[in-house]
Amino acid sequence: MKEGWISGTGQFVAGFERALSQRICRAETIAVVNGTIALELALRVLCVGPGAEVIVPALTFAAPAMSVLAVGAVPVIADVSEDSWTISPSDAEAKITRRTAAIIAVDVLGHPADYDRLKFGLPVIQDSAEAHGATYCDRPVGSQGDISVFSFHANKAITTGEGGAASTDSSDLASRMRLIAHHGMTRDRPYVHEVVGRNYQMTNLAAAVGLGQLSRWDELIGARNDVSVLYDQLLDGAPCGHRPVAAWAGYACWLYCVTVANREQVLNELRSSGIDARAIWPSLTDQPVLRGLGAVAPVAEYISRQALWLPTYAGITEDEQRVVAEHLRLATMAA
Ligand SMILES: *Cc1c(COP(=O)(O)O)cnc(C)c1O
Repeated sequence: MKEGWISGTGQFVAGFERALSQRICRAETIAVVNGTIALELALRVLCVGPGAEVIVPALTFAAPAMSVLAVGAVPVIADVSEDSWTISPSDAEAKITRRTAAIIAVDVLGHPADYDRLKFGLPVIQDSAEAHGATYCDRPVGSQGDISVFSFHANKAITTGEGGAASTDSSDLASRMRLIAHHGMTRDRPYVHEVVGRNYQMTNLAAAVGLGQLSRWDELIGARNDVSVLYDQLLDGAPCGHRPVAAWAGYACWLYCVTVANREQVLNELRSSGIDARAIWPSLTDQPVLRGLGAVAPVAEYISRQALWLPTYAGITEDEQRVVAEHLRLATMAA
């Protein structure tokens, strides 16, 4: 605030981009207004538009499918694997056609997709919006796809209120993304528009908050993982299922998830005890806006009917977690 330079061209934006690139071992990052726009930017720089198809996983917050629709392309829904809840490489492969322009893989709920098995000669956009701090084969999540995308929405592990970023190791993709996100003009030639530009820039105010958050990365990621470890202990032997973690994954808990047979009853019981537990997203195949595609994804549909989130945030106390776990045990037994 003191600096007075609050728009997207301030020094905190550049600092935030550098710090994030360093954190996830990437050459370049472009900070933007939110994660959904970061996905859109990745699609635009890959020239994905009308007539193209993009494969997306069925189990995710809907932003990947929405960004595909926003550029005029068609989302093609692939099911997820039971052992990771991330996009099934075999189902993704089965959905490839002559029109397929890219695959969006989502590191869903803090668990990386299986990138080694998503190599089909197609660009992979990695949506790491829910996976700050996770690793894939001991490398930071966000360094796998041709372009990786983060969100810094308030409910994410690292936040700028609203915010997003697109990162890549390709200097060509990076400079073209920067051009598109900055009105289609470069710093050295102001008011000369080289391509169809948009204004996707993160503000210097948001980036300043983001730099503060990045400096607390280990603390903020660690706190959520502590919450996850304690829930695991407290729910040991309880009649509920857990999110699977595959061998290649260094899982970083974003929201703690359990599966129960009679979810609506369990949610009602928890809520009537003042516990803000929530149902996971419906499968993309069940979203009203996507039903016209006629897609099916049995694994994602099964998970999305059974899974719920327990309160997960850095500041929850041990006692609060004990109360949540106790009520969940009671509720699942009653169900
Ligand atoms: C939160 C989220 C986004 C979108 O982020 P916004 O910053 O809210 O636009 C994209 N993809 C996934 C998987 C998310 O969870």
